[in-house]
Amino acid sequence: MRKLELHWQIMIGMVLGLVFGFGMTYMTGGKEFVTNWIAPFGTIFIKLLKLIAVPLILASLIKGISDLKDISKFRNIGLRTIGIYVGTTTVAIILGLVLVNVMEPGTGVSEETIEKLTSTYANDKGVTAKLAEASRQKESGPLKFIEDMVPDNAVSALGNNQLMLQVIFFTIFMGISMLLIGEEKAKPLKKFFDSLNDVVLKMVDLIMLTAPYAVFALLANVVVSSSDPEILLALLKYAGVVVLGLFLMIVFYCILVSIFAKKNPFWFLKQLSPAQLLAFSTSSSAATLPVTMERVEEHIGVDKEVSSFVLPVGATVNMDGTSLYQGIAAVFIAQALSFDLPISAQLTIVLTALLASIGTAAVPGAGMVMLVIVLESVGFPPEKYAIGLALIFAVDRPLDMLRTVVNITGDATVATIVAKSVDKLHKPKPKNWDDHYDEVK
Ligand code: ASP
Repeated sequence: MRKLELHWQIMIGMVLGLVFGFGMTYMTGGKEFVTNWIAPFGTIFIKLLKLIAVPLILASLIKGISDLKDISKFRNIGLRTIGIYVGTTTVAIILGLVLVNVMEPGTGVSEETIEKLTSTYANDKGVTAKLAEASRQKESGPLKFIEDMVPDNAVSALGNNQLMLQVIFFTIFMGISMLLIGEEKAKPLKKFFDSLNDVVLKMVDLIMLTAPYAVFALLANVVVSSSDPEILLALLKYAGVVVLGLFLMIVFYCILVSIFAKKNPFWFLKQLSPAQLLAFSTSSSAATLPVTMERVEEHIGVDKEVSSFVLPVGATVNMDGTSLYQGIAAVFIAQALSFDLPISAQLTIVLTALLASIGTAAVPGAGMVMLVIVLESVGFPPEKYAIGLALIFAVDRPLDMLRTVVNITGDATVATIVAKSVDKLHKPKPKNWDDHYDEVK
C-alpha cells in the first residue's frame, strides 16, 4: 500500500470495507462484531478530523486575513463567494425539481410499498429523532441563524464545533482587528497563528495516514447497518433520480472550473479525490473540511487568503447536494402520497430549500431534518411528516454519502473560481504523501 497514491489507498480501504461488511452480514454475530470491534475506529477517525477543524479555521483564517494588507480585498472575496454560493445552490434546486417533475419517481410507487415502508419506518427511532430535531429548529424565528452566528462567549464558541459560523465570525472579527492595529503591533500574534497553522496542517497529515484503515471501518459499518435489499429496490427510481441530479451537479462544476478557472476538470477532480472519498465515507462536510482545505490549497493551488474563508463558510452554508436532494425528496413524497404541488408551491421549494440547506448542519443525516421544514413550507399536512420521511428513510444513508461529495466539491469549485477571479490561483505544490510516511517513521 505504501507506494500507492493516497486516493487509491482510500479506495482500496473502501472496497475492502464493503466486501468485509457484506461478508459479515451473512455470518452469525457478524453485525455485532463490526459494531463492537470495527466501527469505533471509524468514529475515532471522524472525531480526530473534527477535533482539528476549529484550530484549523482559527489559524488559517487569521493567517489569510492578516496577510491581506487591505481590508477591501476581503470584502470583495466575501461578496463574490456568497453570490456564487447562492447561485450554485439555486441551480442545484432547480435541476432537482426539473428532474423529479420529468421523471416522476413517486407516481409509480404502489400502495403496498407505501404501506410496507410506513409500517417499517414511521415509528423508527431514526425518523422520530429527525422529526423532534426539525420541530426544535422550527421554533426559532427567521433571523435566528443570524442571531446564532454572533457568539456571546469566545471560549464556548471555539469549544463547540457545531457552531462553525460562530468560530468564523469570531475569527474574522479578530483578523480584521489585527489588520487595523497595523503590522508591527500584530506581529507576535501573527507569528503565533502562522506557526499554529503549520502545526495543524501537520496534524491533518498524520490523521490522513490512517484514512485507508478508517474508511474500511466506516464502510463496513454502513453495510452492516443498512436496510433490507428488497426495500432498497423499491426506492430505486427515487434514488436513481437523486443520483442523476448529483452527477449532473459534478458535470456542472467541471464546466464552471474549465470556463472560469481555466483548469482541466479531470485534473481538478483528481486533486480533490481524497477529500471526496472521505466525504463519501464520513457523510460529513465538517469532518472532511481539514482535508478539503489541504487539497484545495496544496494540490489545486488556491491561496489561503481565499480558501481559508471560502471553504469553512462553504462547509457550513453551501450544500448544493443537500438542497438538490431536498427538492427531489419533497416532490417525490408529494407524488407518492398524491399531495398536489402546483408550480407556485415548487417555487416556494426553491426558496425554502435554499434557506434549509444553509441551516443544515454539516453532519450525517442533517439534510433530512431540514426536509421537514421544506415540506411544511408547501403546506404538507403535519400528521403525514412521519409517513413522508418513512418513504425515503431506507436509502437516506447512501444518498447522504453521495450528496456530501457534491457539497464539498461545490465548495472547492467556488474556492477555485473565486481565487482565479482575484488572481489568487497559483501553481500547486503537491506534497508527496510517501514523504510523510518517512517523516513519521
Ligand atoms: N451530510 C451532509 C453534509 O455534511 C448534510 C446532509 O445533506 O445531510 O454535507
